Amino acid sequence: MTKFTPYWWEDTPDISLQEQSVSKSVDVAILGAGYSGLSAAIELTRAGRSVQIFEKDSIGKAASTRSGGIASGNLRMSFSGMIEKYGLAQAKAYCGEAIAARHDLMDFVKAEGIDCNYHAVGRFQGAARPSHYESMGREVDNLNKHLGLDAQLIPQSEQHNYLGSDHFYGGTYRPDLNGVHPAKLHYGMYLKALESGAVIHANTAVQQIENNTVGYLLHTERGVVQAKDVIVATNGYTDSATPWLQKRLVPVASMMIATNPISPELMDELFPTRGMACNSNFLHSYFRPSPDGSRVLYGGRAPHKRITDGQIDYSVIETEMKTVLPQLKDIGLSHVWWGFVAMNMDGRPQIAEHNGIHYVGGYCGSGVVWGRWFGRKAAQKILGQPEGQSAFEGQPFKAVPFYKGKPWFLPGVVQWFRLRDKFGL
Ligand SMILES: Cc1cc2nc3c(=O)[nH]c(=O)nc-3n(C[C@H](O)[C@H](O)[C@H](O)COP(=O)(O)OP(=O)(O)OC[C@H]3O[C@@H](n4cnc5c(N)ncnc54)[C@H](O)[C@@H]3O)c2cc1C
Repeated sequence: MTKFTPYWWEDTPDISLQEQSVSKSVDVAILGAGYSGLSAAIELTRAGRSVQIFEKDSIGKAASTRSGGIASGNLRMSFSGMIEKYGLAQAKAYCGEAIAARHDLMDFVKAEGIDCNYHAVGRFQGAARPSHYESMGREVDNLNKHLGLDAQLIPQSEQHNYLGSDHFYGGTYRPDLNGVHPAKLHYGMYLKALESGAVIHANTAVQQIENNTVGYLLHTERGVVQAKDVIVATNGYTDSATPWLQKRLVPVASMMIATNPISPELMDELFPTRGMACNSNFLHSYFRPSPDGSRVLYGGRAPHKRITDGQIDYSVIETEMKTVLPQLKDIGLSHVWWGFVAMNMDGRPQIAEHNGIHYVGGYCGSGVVWGRWFGRKAAQKILGQPEGQSAFEGQPFKAVPFYKGKPWFLPGVVQWFRLRDKFGL
């Protein structure tokens, strides 16, 4: 029977924290116990700051344990597009930071001994249209020439070396992109945050934040807390407690399915290198083998109607998977789940300060790498460390016009993107 919970949760313990009393004052209060909040907490506590994380749900139920686990630090715009839009120096600064962030996550996992199936397996991106393949040639040249990467353009005749599919017109292979078990990574970060001295309050929403003469007064479900600094790390789950951020981040549902176990022979045919994969569509789909190589995980945009576990319509994504990988046509699904990613007007990940409060998020569906990175950067800023600087700060972080947290415009926007992908507009 298909389960409507993330496949990843099978491998990680349910985190049920013993309730601790909420301290009336703290150096830094953090909203959200995903990768971003935990990463900030680890950095701050290790530098001697007292930290309380407030999490409105149980720990480990939001995007950080629901993702595809593709550790890419992806940016929505291609490097070539950025060169055109921002100039070579700025494009190199953005993509250079993505490379640094990926290395930082890899080094962190290794140094801390976090058991999370972090593997440098590379990623194949299939060209959904012949014109995409042409642009990929230019992108590969730019990545290799200006960033010293080893990206490869893979003609259609060779794509079976990376993915057992005839669906694409060739593609690119990026050996520098990685895969991870997202829930194990989250669990490892959670343990490190606890060990470092962070106090984590589950099921304790922050409802409002007020400025006062000594910092910030947080109204939480379990009382009022005075904090010298605040980090908001709520990403796709941002709510009315932080209206400034809520007007800037649009939650978009992303959905994943996992197949029943398949034979090792079929897995060898589908994913010969056991690497990550995605397509080049505007409504990007992503897929991969499970870390143990037993099944295929496939993700993409979720439909808007009735988004509750158990009721979500997963037929679109299942049909797409079986079109891209027809060898799976008779294989059933073991798990179906979804979660919220956060988009923003600018399309780049965001780190911002407003009224002295630090905000991170808007990773546009690529927060496995960016969550750790920007959580850490926000902490470094509070600690007054120069490492806290980022190429992404100071960029426009505009409010979405006529939007206060209910994305009424999404069905129309997603439909437009679907048409663009279908007809190559
Ligand atoms: C289905 C899916 C697939 C994905 N695949 C990938 C992928 O392959 N690669 C990749 O890089 N990224 C992927 N992502 C995106 C990635 O998972 C997220 O960008 C990342 O986990 C964000 O981490 P975070 O800590 O910022 O936010 P989250 O993990 O979402 O945590 C935010 C937390 O804030 C809490 N919160 C909200 N409001 C309050 C409040 N008022 N008070 C207290 N707590 C509050 C929420 O309850 C939540 O727990 C995917 C996401 C989804 C949903």
